[in-house]
Amino acid sequence: MNVTETLPGTHCKQCDFKVAEVTEGCPSCGSESVEMVDLKQNGIIHSFTVVHVGFGALSNRAPYVLAIVQTEENVKLTTVVDGVIDFGSVKIGDKVRFKNVDPKIGPIFQY
Ligand SMILES: [Zn+2]
Repeated sequence: MNVTETLPGTHCKQCDFKVAEVTEGCPSCGSESVEMVDLKQNGIIHSFTVVHVGFGALSNRAPYVLAIVQTEENVKLTTVVDGVIDFGSVKIGDKVRFKNVDPKIGPIFQY
């Protein structure tokens, strides 16, 4: 299993849009003038849900926090948040940091 320790993204040279996935073209303006970048790894929880019954690759992980994280570059992505000790204490605006990309799950952030 290959664990990636940078957060891969695509930057559009045309409109400066950034997205937390690797794409051939810009999802915002459609330009093909894009480059692969490593995104900044600090973010905050924009919204989240506590998942009690996981499925697929996540079935052994439940309960876990599934969140939309907004990075300091204003890129939003859906991610699992690790390192939660008390599920009742998770709140919007909490600071999280990129941990790694799990090939089966996708990006994982942590407290
Ligand atoms: Zn663009």
